[in-house]
Amino acid sequence: MPLNLQKAVCTPSFEEAVRLILDAVSPLESESVSLLDSLGRISAVDVSAPWSTPRCDNSAMDGFAVRAADCEPGAALPIAGYMPAGATPIPAVGPRCAIKIMTGAPIPIGCDAVVPFEAAEEMNGAVRLKKPVSPRQHVRFKGEDISAGDTILAEGDIVHPVHIGVLASFGKKEMVVYSRPKVAVLSTGDELVENPEDLVPGKVLDSNRWAIAAAVRDCGAIPVMLGIARDDPQSHRDKLQEGLCADVLITTAGVSAGDRDLVRDILAELDVRPVFRGTRVKPGSPTCFGLHGNTKVFSLPGNPVASLIAFEEFVKPALLKMMGHQRVLNPFLPAILASDVRKSPGHAKLLRVRLEQREGRLWAWSAGKQDTGMQKTLLRADALALLPEDRVSFSAGETVSVQMLNARLAKVMEAVIRCTGPTSSYSAMETGAAGYGMPNAVKTDCA
Ligand code: AMP
Ligand code: MG
Repeated sequence: MPLNLQKAVCTPSFEEAVRLILDAVSPLESESVSLLDSLGRISAVDVSAPWSTPRCDNSAMDGFAVRAADCEPGAALPIAGYMPAGATPIPAVGPRCAIKIMTGAPIPIGCDAVVPFEAAEEMNGAVRLKKPVSPRQHVRFKGEDISAGDTILAEGDIVHPVHIGVLASFGKKEMVVYSRPKVAVLSTGDELVENPEDLVPGKVLDSNRWAIAAAVRDCGAIPVMLGIARDDPQSHRDKLQEGLCADVLITTAGVSAGDRDLVRDILAELDVRPVFRGTRVKPGSPTCFGLHGNTKVFSLPGNPVASLIAFEEFVKPALLKMMGHQRVLNPFLPAILASDVRKSPGHAKLLRVRLEQREGRLWAWSAGKQDTGMQKTLLRADALALLPEDRVSFSAGETVSVQMLNARLAKVMEAVIRCTGPTSSYSAMETGAAGYGMPNAVKTDCA
């Protein structure tokens, strides 16, 4: 390894590791996709309205188009025409008559108000008005909704159904969005089998592949399954080489200090430049990150809990940034610890916790045994509480930072806290000049 690269390899703190990763990735190229396929993707362009809407004054109700000045209470106006939705506009209408009109149909020239059916009585070809009529009532005026040039979507916005609808209303058939990364997913280890029939003592089913591929898909990227590399150098070489053709390569296991942990050595042999090897956070401390041309390489730990948490913290923000997302970090919210917690020094800890909301404040309980063999604790957990590296004991009642594991829950809780609870200096985190929004502003001393 060249000297300057060796210098760059370090064991960063949690915050530094995230920063090193985000500094190394940027949005992929953009591509044009069909309008519907742009749903959930990130707009790579600003899109503005090509014309103003509505394109003409039209009725907001089913009823009668009238001239308000003709409509003293009790007036009876002859019905002089009929305007269903989609009909060609009637030429100018004379005074003291009504046009039967349906919602969306153009208001005939000469009329300035619509009387809904409920406020009128129709008999013998005339309409009697039950209530006073004010000018402009129940009329949607030309250009009052979206004006020509108004921004519909800005670069970096997530495409939601409402955008698709508005874009369709302007005749858009395609959208330019950021491409989605292809993410190769590789499990490693001689103990792994693919089918329950092969589960002889000593073997385990390869579950990481599915969890990681699901997590990749969940954030909108494209998983590519590479299968299993066995604990021999050639098997690793073949699979890793294949994975280096993808935008991102994720491996699990074989990255710790075991004498059959081959991932780091074979990646180095294949010219993957390490950015860091290991980080000071648990679970996830063996995580390594490296670069090979444009391919980003994440080596995650083998334990299913550790690999998923490492994915959440390190890989997901990178994938989101590659897909053009502006907000790539899961925000930290304040929560009150419900019981005392101890941890060892020298690394931060991501404690799996359950949350409860009481009087507008979040309380965090340990979700169970915290060792990384305990999948049950992750199944139960609502959030991860970040316990900082420099402390070992935390008392019930003190405020810690928690990160929701479920995006929907995260949004709800964030809203609850914004409305009722104490504001947090890091509750709304965006990537940007100020950094990546980690709880403590970080300066990287690694690279
Ligand atoms: P390692 O990092 O290779 O020491 O693996 C740590 C632990 O994770 C071991 O108990 C492995 O059996 C387990 N493990 C590794 N890879 C997988 C996988 N793909 N699916 C399920 N468990 C795994
Ligand atoms: Mg292993």
